[in-house]
Amino acid sequence: MKQIIIIGGGAAGFFCASNLDETQYKITILEQNSDVLQKVKVSGGGRCNVTHACFDPRELVQFYPRGNKELLSVFTKFQPGDTMDWFDQRKVSLKIENDNRIFPESNSSQTIINTFLNEVQQKNVEVKTKCAVKEIEKKDAQYLVKTNSGDFVADYIIYTTGSSPKSLKIVKNLGHKIVNPVPSLFTFNIKDDVLNDMAGTSFEMAQTSIPKLKTEESGPLLITHWGLSGPAILKISAWEAISLAQLKYHFEIEVNFISMAIQDAEENFQHFKQNNPKKTIGQSKIFDVTNRFWQKILNVSKVDLNKQIANISGKEMQAILENLCRKKFQVTGKSTFKDEFVTAGGVDLKEINFKNMSSKLLPNFYIAGEVLNIDAVTGGFNFQACWSEAWLIAQDLNNL
Ligand SMILES: Cc1cc2nc3c(=O)[nH]c(=O)nc-3n(C[C@H](O)[C@H](O)[C@H](O)COP(=O)(O)OP(=O)(O)OC[C@H]3O[C@@H](n4cnc5c(N)ncnc54)[C@H](O)[C@@H]3O)c2cc1C
Repeated sequence: MKQIIIIGGGAAGFFCASNLDETQYKITILEQNSDVLQKVKVSGGGRCNVTHACFDPRELVQFYPRGNKELLSVFTKFQPGDTMDWFDQRKVSLKIENDNRIFPESNSSQTIINTFLNEVQQKNVEVKTKCAVKEIEKKDAQYLVKTNSGDFVADYIIYTTGSSPKSLKIVKNLGHKIVNPVPSLFTFNIKDDVLNDMAGTSFEMAQTSIPKLKTEESGPLLITHWGLSGPAILKISAWEAISLAQLKYHFEIEVNFISMAIQDAEENFQHFKQNNPKKTIGQSKIFDVTNRFWQKILNVSKVDLNKQIANISGKEMQAILENLCRKKFQVTGKSTFKDEFVTAGGVDLKEINFKNMSSKLLPNFYIAGEVLNIDAVTGGFNFQACWSEAWLIAQDLNNL
């Protein structure tokens, strides 16, 4: 029987093992840690955001800053609907939340872990923990896998190590090109009077742009103790991960807190002024922001809160509108989003055959998961890429 060695006991490695035909192969997973599936365990705040309710591959790929072109064909073969069916067949109920993220009904990542452990046990997959792969050598038609606990011979390798520099070096030594890893999905550190003491304030729909990179995003926005977060920031951090690393996380960002063109906001302001001339500006929350934030905007715009709105000068109105619709902030660093660090970069996608996730350079060698230069915004998309890629590998090997 031919030997498959899966290097890395994480999401991609276990999903692959769970779909391989054990009657055809001897399957071994090598994992460097003492426990497998550790990232699945902590994922989604311990609830594991398994996938996302987006069932059209063309729509789905829009969530992947890197890998969007390549994943289209992968998702036409295995997409979130298939993930749901897969778990359903194993009696795991999943639920779709209001924002389309999908979690196990149990709200526990352990449910997902147990499912995988059960699958590999039934298939007699050998799981070797505390077994760190140090080097892989090609030996005629096979591979010699050198680890801290002895050597293994493989007919097929499935490389699912995640994106640690050490694991990238191993594939680099085998000839693969590596796109330099940089963090993706982070929040922006900003010190500014507008944000001071405003942590916890959120905006339903804001627009953010980075003029230097000619890029913009929109979505909910949140003021944190350190600066700005929320989907409008996380999305821009993911799409521009490489450029922002090059800028060393120092750049200017423009925020429109009310997602309204300044001309339209001015019209609204004038309309309100005509209809409520006697009201004080402090009491006149013209736009859909919290009272506290409105007062903050008036303060930083140096407008007296007790002034009647009829007496607000054109200059004062412009200052308010600029702070609401075109506020410029200096970003001076980044912070991790809920410990959910995702890496952009990894094995160059040009060297992968996306029909079956095989290496174009190495025979009988497959690569999947975060070790590839693929990453997504938050919402269950990173796992979905793992499931889909791993499924393709298993199908390819099962049909040999
Ligand atoms: C805190 C956190 C929360 C997250 N939550 C979500 C979420 O809810 N939904 C979502 O879609 N994504 C989430 N992600 C992202 C998601 O966890 C990753 O995209 C996914 O785990 C990648 O799977 P993988 O199998 O490629 O790598 P991993 O899950 O990292 O697994 C790789 C495994 O390989 C092992 N390994 C590495 N090198 C070697 C070696 N040389 N020898 C032997 N073993 C080795 C590692 O120890 C590890 O166990 C989260 C990430 C983090 C950090």
